[in-house]
Amino acid sequence: MRNRIPACPFPFLSALALLLVLPGTALPADESQFARQRETMVRTQIERRNVTHPATLDAMSRVPRHLFVREENRDRAYSDGPLPIGHGQTISQPYIVALMTQLVDPGPGDRVLEIGTGSGYQAAVLGEILREVYTIEIVEPLYRWGSANLRSAGYDHVRVKHADGYYGWEEHAPFDAIVVTAAASSIPPPLIDQLAEGGKMIIPVGSPFRTQVLTLVRREGNDIFTEQILPVRFVPFVRQ
Ligand code: SAH
Repeated sequence: MRNRIPACPFPFLSALALLLVLPGTALPADESQFARQRETMVRTQIERRNVTHPATLDAMSRVPRHLFVREENRDRAYSDGPLPIGHGQTISQPYIVALMTQLVDPGPGDRVLEIGTGSGYQAAVLGEILREVYTIEIVEPLYRWGSANLRSAGYDHVRVKHADGYYGWEEHAPFDAIVVTAAASSIPPPLIDQLAEGGKMIIPVGSPFRTQVLTLVRREGNDIFTEQILPVRFVPFVRQ
């Protein structure tokens, strides 16, 4: 008799409770799956290829890359390659993002400029390491999408501008580091001018649609040194 009375409303209530709880529980399960994939990405794609910079590894383990890819590519967010982000552009391979970050060696008090916001992922990785991050995107819809991704992933301190990155961001120069994520046929002089004393720039240099050379540029006093790092393939640096 005692059991009969609650037996009636219980299935209804539990179904209701399930409906209320399920949408909330699905997210943490996905998040922990993504966190595991991220850990594997750092160990197998990045550490194994000799990226050792602790701040870079830490940042790569934290940034939720799945929030910077298109919805239909979420299950491939942590795979070992670039992914399309629309408008003929790509989010770079995780290893390349890590390598470029390690090469400019950003410190917490530095000021960094990125050219080619795209998805916002590289800017978010930099934003994990330092407070002053500026990024410029030339394609308007990508500028809006990248900005929205950065905001919704919590990187509100990253400043985004819709402009031609060839000219840099004069009002915030000089920069301790500049990361260029599109391939230029030569190093834009305004970017060299905006590099701080002791500053470093990483930039793919070469012809569009061919293999380019990832090049590290260092300013020491009035001298500019360049070092060729490795062959890469980036989308072209476009001009308005
Ligand atoms: N850093 C991006 C990679 C995007 S691919 C990420 O993490 O997702 C390169 C980006 O550079 C593209 O979004 C492209 O539109 C942009 N780009 C190309 N030429 C540019 C220019 N002159 N100024 C600013 N952005 C440019």
